[in-house]
Amino acid sequence: MKILVPVKRVLDYNVKPRVKSDGTGVDLANVKMSMNPFDEIGVEEAIRLREKGVATEVVAVSVGPAKAQETLRTALAMGADRAILVQTDDAVEPLALAKIFKAIADAEQPGLVILGKQAIDDDNNQTGQMLAALTGWAQGTFASAVNVDGDHVNVTREVDGGLETVKLKLPAIVTTDLRLNEPRYASLPNIMKAKSKPLDTKTPADYGVDTTPRVKTLKVSEPPVRSAGVKVADVDELVAKLKAMGVHS
Ligand code: AMP
Repeated sequence: MKILVPVKRVLDYNVKPRVKSDGTGVDLANVKMSMNPFDEIGVEEAIRLREKGVATEVVAVSVGPAKAQETLRTALAMGADRAILVQTDDAVEPLALAKIFKAIADAEQPGLVILGKQAIDDDNNQTGQMLAALTGWAQGTFASAVNVDGDHVNVTREVDGGLETVKLKLPAIVTTDLRLNEPRYASLPNIMKAKSKPLDTKTPADYGVDTTPRVKTLKVSEPPVRSAGVKVADVDELVAKLKAMGVHS
């Protein structure tokens, strides 16, 4: 069984985003970019399934600028077998992404596609679900456990206040949640080895997908700055102030 793992290059999660002065978006010039953390979890899960003998090949895919090659090399260094870069300079919306992944799934015939539950830059939480709709495959979203059993996969999902386990017929779409696993670091020898693993470069047109955006971002703004607090001398003063504000225990 082959596993397809879409990985997105995003602003590193440790970097505080800066909004461009004209309010058109987040400034990505000269900032650290990394693999979307949920996608690292997806790569890790796919590699574990290959190590267990459940999967035979892990293919990482990224849609983005030429620099997204670095993200794919990271996936290869973690242990993916080969990679596909679908090169485009503009951001691609979830539906167009899902169409690209559908075309790749048609060509590659994976048993599983493991995406992140969301990209931490745009927080869409849409691509996996749309891919499930376009392929007609079953979906297990927000996975905290994935167990392949013959021609099915059991996915434990993080739902409000608990866990739900669903059984999906393969091929299927899984989206990862934070607690699914702890991704490995790529070792130096594996980073070196990754340089010679196959990486194909394509364009959306190769898959017959029009990526013209349908949504226009009107404005991006920083969150409001927190106003300064007040220092109190002791507990009595704190209680008095809370009472004056109408806060009761
Ligand atoms: P989103 O629907 O944008 O929140 O993204 C959900 C998941 O879709 C991500 O965690 C990735 O697995 C995948 N994805 C989104 N955008 C891209 C991209 N440009 N390239 C590769 N995978 C992507």
